[in-house]
Amino acid sequence: MKDANITGGEHRDIWVFAEIQDHERVLEGALELITRGRELADALGERLCALIFALNAEEYLPLIERHGPDIIMYASDPALKHYDDRIIPDLFAGLIAEHRPSIVLFPSTEAGSDLAPRLAARFGTGLTAHCTGLSIADHPEYGKNLLLMERPAYGGNAIAAVMCPHARPQMATVRQGVFEKRERTDVKTEIVKLSFSAPGSDGRIESLQAPLRRDRPAVPLEQARVIVAGGRGLGSKKNFDRLYELASLLGGETGATRVPVFNRWCGEERMIGQTGRTVRPRLYIGFGVSGQIQHTASIVESEIIVSINTDPESPLAEMSDYVVTDDAAALLEALIARLKTEKQS
Ligand SMILES: Cc1cc2nc3c(=O)[nH]c(=O)nc-3n(C[C@H](O)[C@H](O)[C@H](O)COP(=O)(O)OP(=O)(O)OC[C@H]3O[C@@H](n4cnc5c(N)ncnc54)[C@H](O)[C@@H]3O)c2cc1C
Repeated sequence: MKDANITGGEHRDIWVFAEIQDHERVLEGALELITRGRELADALGERLCALIFALNAEEYLPLIERHGPDIIMYASDPALKHYDDRIIPDLFAGLIAEHRPSIVLFPSTEAGSDLAPRLAARFGTGLTAHCTGLSIADHPEYGKNLLLMERPAYGGNAIAAVMCPHARPQMATVRQGVFEKRERTDVKTEIVKLSFSAPGSDGRIESLQAPLRRDRPAVPLEQARVIVAGGRGLGSKKNFDRLYELASLLGGETGATRVPVFNRWCGEERMIGQTGRTVRPRLYIGFGVSGQIQHTASIVESEIIVSINTDPESPLAEMSDYVVTDDAAALLEALIARLKTEKQS
């Protein structure tokens, strides 16, 4: 089949949307994507380009440069302080039309998940969301050097392998924590400042401040060394709230299954699993967590897993290093009391 939107000129190079989080730091997931993008670009023999749109974008150049892109294209302007869906999609689309990248990767954040589908629709191309694997592969019918995108399907019970053979760019979003970030000192980076002038306001919407993220963990769950996670077995928000104290005593963070998030015991920033975060702490303790695949697929890289559950045969118990068969809320209180006593003595 003929490529749907590949007309004449070749599409080359890999682009990564290097998102700036809360107008103060480079998103960890963007650095992870740049690291993976570097490996893919090396495999293809093409260039890797990171794109930054931010207020004071120059501040972020050194850190991004250390992760090895061949090119950084950036625009710096007060109008780019927050992700604005009236500005960034147009700006990004213009660059894609001009430079014709072959692959464009986005973090699976609120901004990335807004931007990527808008661009995919504009260019009539495909988008694979929440990928857990990216590689370069050949296909007997579709040709060579295609982006192979893997993501969970059927509620996490299968892995779908997706290719986008007939349109460009090939596009994917990837959740934070899927890849590891790594610095590269062997790449010389070209820095390109984009000329940008903010479009005048249409008067309909004025962005005064970014929405506050509810219940955001102090350390992103993806980087937490200790995670205490609560599930339905904790029974109530009152019991769930006690996890924060335990997490603080252990120097860790509080996570959750989907049930506490749906019950509004905590914000979705804390959800671990297929539709939440992928974590790899040294210690994961699940309180009243059954261990359905949609949750456990995202904790398998934990070094030590502990399950506290009245059911000794729960799926989480079966994959745990330590199992405590007890009431989750009662054990949580006992642990807090014990740790406090130990700290005092
Ligand atoms: C498409 C899709 C995506 C999903 N994405 C996610 C995701 O990203 N993350 C996620 O977590 N889930 C996700 N889910 C939901 C997932 O399938 C499970 O429903 C969910 O993880 C179960 O949460 P839970 O373990 O808290 O609750 P349950 O499965 O209801 O388990 C509660 C556990 O608590 C134990 N228990 C009960 N009382 C006590 C007590 N007093 N003391 C101790 N233990 C007790 C029970 O024995 C049980 O094992 C998704 C589902 C679908 C279909």
